[in-house]
Amino acid sequence: MRPAPPGSAGDVIVVNTCTVTSRADQEARQLIRRLARESPAAKIVVTGCYAQRAPEELRSLPGVSAVLGIAEREEIGERLRGGQEGVAVGPARAKRPLAPSIPLHFGRTRALLKVQDGCDSFCTYCVVPYVRGRARSLPLGDALEQGHRLLDAGFDEIVVTGADLGSYGEDLGQRGLLPRLVKSLLGLGRTHRVRLSSIEPNKIDPEIVTMLGSEARLCRHLHLPLQSGSDTVLRAMKRAYRATDYAALLGRISARGRVGIGADVIVGFPGEGEREFEETMAVVEDLPLAYLHVFRYSTRPGTVAARFPAQVGGPTARERSERLRELGDAKRRAFLRSLVGSRLPVLPESRAVEDGVLARSDLYAPVLLRRERPWRGIVEAQITGVEGDALLGVRTGGPDHADVSTSG
Ligand code: SF4
Repeated sequence: MRPAPPGSAGDVIVVNTCTVTSRADQEARQLIRRLARESPAAKIVVTGCYAQRAPEELRSLPGVSAVLGIAEREEIGERLRGGQEGVAVGPARAKRPLAPSIPLHFGRTRALLKVQDGCDSFCTYCVVPYVRGRARSLPLGDALEQGHRLLDAGFDEIVVTGADLGSYGEDLGQRGLLPRLVKSLLGLGRTHRVRLSSIEPNKIDPEIVTMLGSEARLCRHLHLPLQSGSDTVLRAMKRAYRATDYAALLGRISARGRVGIGADVIVGFPGEGEREFEETMAVVEDLPLAYLHVFRYSTRPGTVAARFPAQVGGPTARERSERLRELGDAKRRAFLRSLVGSRLPVLPESRAVEDGVLARSDLYAPVLLRRERPWRGIVEAQITGVEGDALLGVRTGGPDHADVSTSG
């Protein structure tokens, strides 16, 4: 079995789905229908979280020959070679050890390293514990071996991910394993950097906060889901912190120096009235956030919140998300403006742009470097301005990495 060459339709199309919102479900169905229209001869195999949650729903879509659960996805090659069709979805909540997975790559410069899966928190709105199973971690040795492979393959940034990354190591009886992992990953080489993906605010290890100011190659970027600025809503969501805890954490992080902090917020959660929403607006307004991801609450079948009364109507939720997005945009613009005049370490993204190079700073803000050609490795850029959602910069130096003259 080989990957089909770019631009040609393969014999088999694998669709990996998400089910975190009803919109993600809808997008997956639309994609499958489009693929079935465009490649009628191909077999479509659907896997991922939506497949785990509602396999029969997906099996009934046109062109779908097989639906595989999360565990079964690991044997996808053997199953396809054996011509197995139909639905194969085992129980999600079984406690399987986490096996090293095939890393997902953002082109040639940044790679994801998944070290944790599942979650035991059961926030009332969230379907993750039902589809990903119990929290489990990749042992440190396996994670480092994967990290080695990514560096050998030429990646300059390792993004450490997990469904509940803050709980990394707990199931192995090893507290404080995430800071150890970060230090060990940084120790695998001298020029790459490490970034952490989303971490629950109540689970962030204080040592990680300390490292943000002292480990130069740990990206000064954290994504910390807030979900609501109202304690009434946070309680109903079964979140294990209050708005003041979150604000205090951001205060401690900001005291380490400049850090790009992003947050998720859900609007329209059942029981969120005008007052609770205004509390969220006020909290977000005061927080030192670099960007905001706003989600409209959508009922996930099987979750506790799906049974809550006082579901918020669509138009109200839409209007709230609009207002919060505007606030998030204003905060993002202010953050970008605050960086003009500074020097930031940047790494080219794989996506080509017409008149230069689009790079990613350690703070996560994108930087456009005009009239530059792609290069390898992390270099320093002087930030000269802001254009749209990106910073403008000029390369000023950094390690002596070879220029990359082709895009191959
Ligand atoms: S901690 Fe995150 S993944 Fe776990 S249930 Fe809550 S929202 Fe979902």
